[in-house]
Amino acid sequence: MLMEKSIPQTALVPDSDYIIFGGTGDLALRKIFPALFWRFCDGQLTDKVRLIAVARNSLPLDTFLDKLRPFCEDAFSTYDMDESLWADFARLITIMPIDIMSGKGGTELAAFIAEKKDDARPAIYYLAVAPALFGSACQLLSELDLVWPQSRLVVEKPLGHDYVSAEQINSQLKSVFSEDQIYRIDHYLGKETVQNLMALRFANVIFESQWNNNSIDHVQISVAETVGVGDRAAYYDKAGALRDMVQNHILQLVCLVAMEPPSHFTADQVRDEKLRVLQALRPLTKEDIVTGQYQDYEHELDGSSQTETYVALRMGIENWRWAGVPFYIRTGKKLSLRASEIVITFKPKPHDIFKKAGAPAGEDDLPNRLVIRLQPQEGLKLQLISKAPGPGGMRLFPSELNLSFNDTFSARLPDAYERLLMDTARGNQTLFMRHDEVLAAWAFIDPVISLASELAPSLYRQGTFGPADHFGGEDGSIWIDPSEDPGQ
Ligand code: NAP
Repeated sequence: MLMEKSIPQTALVPDSDYIIFGGTGDLALRKIFPALFWRFCDGQLTDKVRLIAVARNSLPLDTFLDKLRPFCEDAFSTYDMDESLWADFARLITIMPIDIMSGKGGTELAAFIAEKKDDARPAIYYLAVAPALFGSACQLLSELDLVWPQSRLVVEKPLGHDYVSAEQINSQLKSVFSEDQIYRIDHYLGKETVQNLMALRFANVIFESQWNNNSIDHVQISVAETVGVGDRAAYYDKAGALRDMVQNHILQLVCLVAMEPPSHFTADQVRDEKLRVLQALRPLTKEDIVTGQYQDYEHELDGSSQTETYVALRMGIENWRWAGVPFYIRTGKKLSLRASEIVITFKPKPHDIFKKAGAPAGEDDLPNRLVIRLQPQEGLKLQLISKAPGPGGMRLFPSELNLSFNDTFSARLPDAYERLLMDTARGNQTLFMRHDEVLAAWAFIDPVISLASELAPSLYRQGTFGPADHFGGEDGSIWIDPSEDPGQ
């Protein structure tokens, strides 16, 4: 058995049943089961947990395990494990053929859960299936009498394609589960660095007094991907970057940067504050929107399309703290590198005592910046101006306080799904979206999508940072491109 199996800082979560509808699909294989495996390896899940993969088609358990194992193999190198841990984990898994639409196979699930059903044991139903099945899945669970106070429902994007459809999904979920039983995943919220953004803001005093329009010039959020749409083309073409990335992940990041400090770190207080940000977003005009499509996208799609694979927005938040501070956000596919970064640029100094008359602006004039790298190579950098060491007068140059999480913390950073799956068992909804947040995000994005549809996306070359925009006015581009290695 494993030496590292118990790690002191991981608290056990209640023994639970995880019932994963769509348990043989891509999301389950790539994310959900590997996350559970890591938690099992770390000793956070015990051998009393049961993991039930539900799919429409019957699949022998051994075949399923053979498919799953390569996705779990990262953990093998960390734990240098013998086969027994994998065998122990595999013993927790059951596979059940159930058709959500017809209900066929449901009674077997009900009997299985009834074996251990009690008021202390959560049953976590993870709907890793198309949203069109959410309503039927909830009804089936209700008919099978599988909904009681310890039952929890986990869903994730796409939660609708607009406000109206999101509301329909919400009402389907809420016709069976109460809001405090529904866990809407935005996996960005489970990322360590995203949680660290809250720690940075609310566990330190030095930033709060600067965190407003007196000191901050603008905020940029870039979520850049190198991959294209690949085999998701059919889905992606109906969604586009605004629905796929902005409505959920990027708006959540805007909320975490801009929210007021909640009084307590509790689910509803945090979500109340995020909701207020969404409700304060300035409605956009066409001049605030730039869309692009990478060259060859139509070829990959095998059809013509006006769908944006890149979008940049100039946003604003209408409240006292942020009035006049632009929030620039952009995301795109087939860009030059994969990186998610938030850059807070502070205002220029009010007076430069070092400047020589007539000297052109240079690197020693750069503003202070706080760069929060969300992925990969997670960390924080504070860009400052320092004196160049040695003789030669007061020569200034840009320098950095650099906190690389990988270098600072020897522990591996867990995947977002690990944290989120444990929170479902703990009953902690802080990192999950509430129904009114989802609707407020759609209420903001729907008009943006409508305006964007009137703009022809500019074609951009693959391996660049997308099409040019005019947000910088005559001064040119405002964007600060993430670097390959944020430590440099
Ligand atoms: P997928 O690979 O196509 O898998 C779909 C799963 O749903 C399969 O296990 C399938 O079982 C099952 N299923 C389909 N119809 C069913 C029915 N009537 N009754 C019971 N099970 C049924 O899809 P996926 O990529 O995992 O995505 C699932 C959902 O998560 C989608 O809504 C997707 O947008 C969302 N999502 C996916 C990802 C990701 O990384 N993949 C990320 C975020 C969100 P059979 O094969 O037996 O039919």
